[in-house]
Amino acid sequence: MTDTMTNRRTAVRASHEILERICEEILRRQRFLLTSHARPDGDSIGSQMAMAYALDTLGKQVRIVNADSAPDHYRAFPGLDRIEIAPHAAGEADAVIVMECSDLSRTGVTGFDGRYIINIDHHAGNRMYGALNWFDESAAACGEMVFELIRALGVPLSLEIATHIYLAILTDTGSFHHSNITPRTFDICRQTVEAGVNPAAMARRVFDSNSFGKLKLIGALLDAMELTDDGRLAVMYMDEAMLTSCGCTHNDTEGVINLPLTAREIQAVVFFKVGAAGDVRVSMRSKYDVDVRMVASAFGGGGHKNAAGFTVTGRLDDVRPVIIERIVAAIAQGLETRPERD
Ligand code: 5GP
Ligand code: MN
Repeated sequence: MTDTMTNRRTAVRASHEILERICEEILRRQRFLLTSHARPDGDSIGSQMAMAYALDTLGKQVRIVNADSAPDHYRAFPGLDRIEIAPHAAGEADAVIVMECSDLSRTGVTGFDGRYIINIDHHAGNRMYGALNWFDESAAACGEMVFELIRALGVPLSLEIATHIYLAILTDTGSFHHSNITPRTFDICRQTVEAGVNPAAMARRVFDSNSFGKLKLIGALLDAMELTDDGRLAVMYMDEAMLTSCGCTHNDTEGVINLPLTAREIQAVVFFKVGAAGDVRVSMRSKYDVDVRMVASAFGGGGHKNAAGFTVTGRLDDVRPVIIERIVAAIAQGLETRPERD
């Protein structure tokens, strides 16, 4: 047996043990607080909502507290009106289930410290801040882990749960583009489709629900886009003025970063969003083995190999060169390990 096989078997055993522990603790507790990261995406919304519906089925009390509201096009998905938007989580609870957060500060919500925390996450570098920590970097979405937990709890796959699990996977794989997809991903999706999910309708709802303002914004952003590193890196820029002139909000920027990757030569994209308070939010996407998570880690952020981000303070002109330099190095390294180019 190879070392890799042994490691994988040990990891699988460890993951079953923690899953059993989480089930035990959930079953013997009654009041739950659920949360995920600030500026929620499809995986954070889908994971939380699927978990909430599963806990409902078990007769538990559930509250969901998030720092920010969901992007508009997720609002029509089942149960989203249950999410409380608050900077602080007040009130009694027997356990807090934190999904999709490598550390507790990612929630953007205070009031969780000192409570009984169950940490479920798939981001490398998770800080293991819970009483129970289930971390599986091999999951393509946190929703895959939540799916396993729901099945382990013996909860049937209702249409609501299946819809949210599919939403989590569809979005966190970049609509099945990222390199973290495994047979398990499709096995879970198959089960959600058997439970009634319509993949075509889901894709339309998630990706084809732009406002005209957003189309205008996309035009402006692509128009201002710069190419560097012999056309292998696309650099996008946005500030508040561009948003307002298109009648858009920050939520409208979701997914725009993926567009440049549709050009064959482009291996990575960096998107600088300059905030009103002088902070610069940096999002990155990449293809194949170009590892943008390593770049994000160097600046105190995180994410996954093909999708990562961080925030810096300072003038864009000052911070931009060093960030670009790191991404260019990541592209060179990623292309080196890639056996053949498309
Ligand atoms: P996005 O670019 O869509 O904001 O984020 C892409 C990925 O990177 C997501 O998995 C997200 O959770 C992660 N990410 C984005 N910003 C940060 C950050 O500031 N810190 C950490 N740890 N992860 C981040
Ligand atoms: Mn995720």
